[in-house]
Amino acid sequence: MTKPVVLESVAALRQWREAQRKAGHRVGLVPTMGALHAGHISLVTGVKQVTDKAVVSIFVNPTQFAPTEDFSKYPRTFESDLHLLSEVRAEAVFAPQVAEMYPQGFATTVSLDGPAKVELEDKFRPTHFSGVATVVSKLLLQAMPDVAIFGEKDFQQLAVIRHMARDLDIPVEIMGGPTLREADGLAMSSRNVYLTVGERMVAPIVHRTLQAAAEIVRRGMPLAVIEAEAADRLTKAGLVVDYVAIRDALSLAVPMECAAPASLRILVAASLGQTRLIDNIAV
Ligand code: AMP
Repeated sequence: MTKPVVLESVAALRQWREAQRKAGHRVGLVPTMGALHAGHISLVTGVKQVTDKAVVSIFVNPTQFAPTEDFSKYPRTFESDLHLLSEVRAEAVFAPQVAEMYPQGFATTVSLDGPAKVELEDKFRPTHFSGVATVVSKLLLQAMPDVAIFGEKDFQQLAVIRHMARDLDIPVEIMGGPTLREADGLAMSSRNVYLTVGERMVAPIVHRTLQAAAEIVRRGMPLAVIEAEAADRLTKAGLVVDYVAIRDALSLAVPMECAAPASLRILVAASLGQTRLIDNIAV
């Protein structure tokens, strides 16, 4: 098992990337915040199927956390991350310090509309996507990958990044990867380590509720009723619901019920104790 080469500076990343280009290799980028689990690893496997060399970025990006959020206590497990990435034969890890990504005087952000302004995550984390889009555009420009892969777990994020790459003509193919789940349906997340034993037993209700809601949508009940009932079920189980929303899977807009059947997605965000869970499912 060979460990991936660890690149800590943009200069080192660019040098590595240039060597791949000269060797004729296609490069896949997997942006992460570390604390890797099987969901992240599935993205590495996915991108390796369509490229020759995978570079995984590990960077807990401060600009996507609000001051009230968990930036300082976000799990950091670099050595075990490297071990997992060796097993799946990732070729490189880009792990910059904050000062490398945001040097003194940094003053530029990406401003978003479209799927970033649909009253889902953006309503509850109003500064989040601007931080995500800024760091992802930096990573794309630094690594110049042929393909970059993002999880459907963060469905709105995937839509925002696809839109941004298109609007800014960033020459990269954005690929989505399916959500990996625990055996009981809970979507894998680095934040699941925050759950207490009791909360961990309750948490799979999020996926069960999504599955039940998708089934009822297929049977043709009014969407607002299904959303309200799903939110009620989660509230009764002890979660504090930010939203349960049935949306157009492409635009994330509220679907017109009288229009021709569109491809729909059900998205949920709810807190269980101190842990905010997000998940989504196709209808
Ligand atoms: P994060 O480290 O949480 O920023 O996530 C890095 C990437 O992994 C993002 O593209 C996420 O959407 C993706 N991801 C997170 N959890 C999962 C999961 N359970 N299955 C598949 N991809 C995931």
